[in-house]
Amino acid sequence: MEDDVIEAIIKGVDKYGLEGWVSSTDDIKSWIPERLHSEADHLVKGKDTMDVWFDSGSSWKVIEKYLADEGLLDQANNRGYLADVYLEGSDQHRGWFQSSILTKLGIRTSEEPVVLPYKKIVTHGFTLDEKGDKMSKSLGNTILPVDILEGNKKIKIPGLGIDGLRLWVAQADYTSDVSIGPTVLKHVADNLKKIRFTYRFLLGNLSDFDIEKDTIPYEKLDYFDKVILSKLHKLEESAVAQYEANNYSTIIRELNYFLNIELSSLYFDIRKDSLYTDKVDSFKRRSTQTVFVEIVKSLATMTAPILPVITQEVWNHLDTKITNSTPSPFVHGWYHTPDQYLNQEIEDDFSELSNIRSKVKSVFDVAMRVDKNIKNSLEAKVIIQPSTDSKLLPILQKYSHFLDDYLVVSKFEIATQDTVNYIDENEVFGTGEFSDGSKILVLKSNFEKCPRCWKFTKESNKELCYRCDEVVHQLEL
Ligand SMILES: [Zn+2]
Repeated sequence: MEDDVIEAIIKGVDKYGLEGWVSSTDDIKSWIPERLHSEADHLVKGKDTMDVWFDSGSSWKVIEKYLADEGLLDQANNRGYLADVYLEGSDQHRGWFQSSILTKLGIRTSEEPVVLPYKKIVTHGFTLDEKGDKMSKSLGNTILPVDILEGNKKIKIPGLGIDGLRLWVAQADYTSDVSIGPTVLKHVADNLKKIRFTYRFLLGNLSDFDIEKDTIPYEKLDYFDKVILSKLHKLEESAVAQYEANNYSTIIRELNYFLNIELSSLYFDIRKDSLYTDKVDSFKRRSTQTVFVEIVKSLATMTAPILPVITQEVWNHLDTKITNSTPSPFVHGWYHTPDQYLNQEIEDDFSELSNIRSKVKSVFDVAMRVDKNIKNSLEAKVIIQPSTDSKLLPILQKYSHFLDDYLVVSKFEIATQDTVNYIDENEVFGTGEFSDGSKILVLKSNFEKCPRCWKFTKESNKELCYRCDEVVHQLEL
């Protein structure tokens, strides 16, 4: 191991290539310094493998060179590591991860500070088929990445493109073994479709919105807008933390909950009415669009690292005022929703309102089964009669302006004893009671269905309901 021996071997490699050591039938003298030529007959080239991970274990040298070329090496040495992350399967704990440390520390002199090849390691399990079996050619259960990208009819795999492959990786809990097969990939395809539809709905409803002229200031927004912004803010803050922890499956799970529960079956479902039937520049519609801008920007931020293709497509279709004229979400950088959006008080109110909503819905479902004439909740009017010292009354009063929308009925009323006395029992087709004794009455609306908005708010002698009539009248003007 003298220096001149090492030098001679380096020269040999230069001359004959790495393979020269094992393949050449040359004279041993080409690989040793001259002073040893007299002993050449007693020397042989060793061909045993020293360590299979030595090559990759010394790959930090490439990173070191890169950092030196970029003028970043001093900075890296000061912080004590070269790369941020090393990523490999769990079998590399005793392989690459370890050999990297050993070779890096092995060449360090005692005066030098300790600089590790990486700051952290991310290890993952193995990919198994849907039955949990190892993939092997002889079993015929292997799936190639290209099968997922382009689809493979023989093994019933849909073509999911780059985003789909990445989404499958991200949704899997890689800390243990992950499974893949037609069923898993079908879920991924549905998930991708859902994300795509959400973006399409947001973009479609922003086409006439000018953020400079039409944005409604936060303070003026309705509680329902504020609650969704508060939840969006929480989702985004959690996504930041989960990305930093390389915890992608949690990001996907929380994102899906937000898309399916908070947006699709609540915010979008309720605000569709305003988006489609209110005056284009009505306060409610503009408020909804203001919220949509926040949602689309924030979602794009969150999905860009996992779904770069679809997110870029969305970005290309957004108004340049929304994207600050940046060509991509990666250039724009992470969009942090303002801290002001966090509003726990309204969120608490809405979790109570949500209980009220489910209770009313269950009364409604029972009533619909009894009276087959009523097919749609919009045909109904809901009256809540609070008990004396009802705990629900303050929240019902605070949100009464919005409860017809929230309960998806044509009219909502808080009843006094007088109004209840006035109701003809035959009109009531469903009743229920809250735990505090407050009563729920579901009645058929005494109005007719408006052909434009489908709410049962039209007087029989009119063509449209009052609201629609006003909107259409203005359009005609
Ligand atoms: Zn109408």
